[in-house]
Amino acid sequence: MKIIDKLTGEDKIHISFEIFPPKTDAGIEKVLETADRIAELKPSYISVTYGAGGGTSKNTARIANHIKTDLGVESLAHLTCASSTKEEVRQVIENLEVLGIENILALRGDIPQGMVFPTEDRFCYAYELVEEIKKNGDFCIGAACYPEGHVENEHKVDDIKYLKQKVDAGVDFLTTQMFFDNDIHYNFLYRIREAGITVPVLPGIMPITSASQMKKSQELSGTVFPRRFLSILDRFGDYPDAMKQAGIAYATDQIIDLLANGIKNIHIYSMNKPDVAIAIMENLSEIIKC
Ligand code: FAD
Repeated sequence: MKIIDKLTGEDKIHISFEIFPPKTDAGIEKVLETADRIAELKPSYISVTYGAGGGTSKNTARIANHIKTDLGVESLAHLTCASSTKEEVRQVIENLEVLGIENILALRGDIPQGMVFPTEDRFCYAYELVEEIKKNGDFCIGAACYPEGHVENEHKVDDIKYLKQKVDAGVDFLTTQMFFDNDIHYNFLYRIREAGITVPVLPGIMPITSASQMKKSQELSGTVFPRRFLSILDRFGDYPDAMKQAGIAYATDQIIDLLANGIKNIHIYSMNKPDVAIAIMENLSEIIKC
């Protein structure tokens, strides 16, 4: 089923989770088991990330197919284009269609270090990939957005202008980069709605369960951590179990605030940690019934 039909059709809270493929084929069984455990939570869908270097593209399709076909949960296959030629990208789209995958998250991906970019045989921006996917099948297309602005773009106004261009190319829904202060998200929503972007937006919530994960997330996304989160890290960062519990509580608190403010769709960056996904769903067990 297309994710957009779920989001707009069923009047309920939609929670989705994300997993990433293994770096090598050897790790595939473990990731499939992770998918099995997360699927037991009956999320609206599970997304599967795509290795920017192209190395895990095969496993993205395989895991997305397992989630949909064997586990009966809708899947969303991520697809990046910066590190592949247009022809390689077309082949991946064709393969996803053959596997019956109906939902693709269309991304440019980070530009590989040392690569001359753009080149003629590659798509430069995600909107071009969106156009290509639309030409090559009847997919529901998601895309990324950045409440704090994309790291490469100095001006948030330009970022929103390009986001509008991407959505107009055929995006059905958006998922945000992680953020740790909900006011940033509310402000972003206000600005994009003003700019005429009307598609559903799923806030992306990342449960931070260790100090090293926080450092990595900050490097990756340039996100700002509020003082409230920094105090938690300061106090519990050296105690792994306590930090994990506090990180789960912080993410739960963010989700409850979003739901209390009328948001119905939440994406959780559970990142191959079923225990974290399970703990958050336990915390929300009554809330998501409302
Ligand atoms: P784009 O939308 O193309 O934007 C990239 C930059 O170009 C932005 O600064 C934008 O403002 C600018 N821009 C866009 N259009 C134009 C234009 N016409 N002219 C000038 N500038 C323009 N990475 C992975 O490798 N694998 C994944 O699976 C993955 N999943 C992700 C999921 C989500 C929800 C998010 C938020 C990010 C994900 N990423 C993933 C990271 C993403 O690939 C990077 O953030 C990447 O740098 C940008 O991708 P994009 O699709 O947002 O690019």
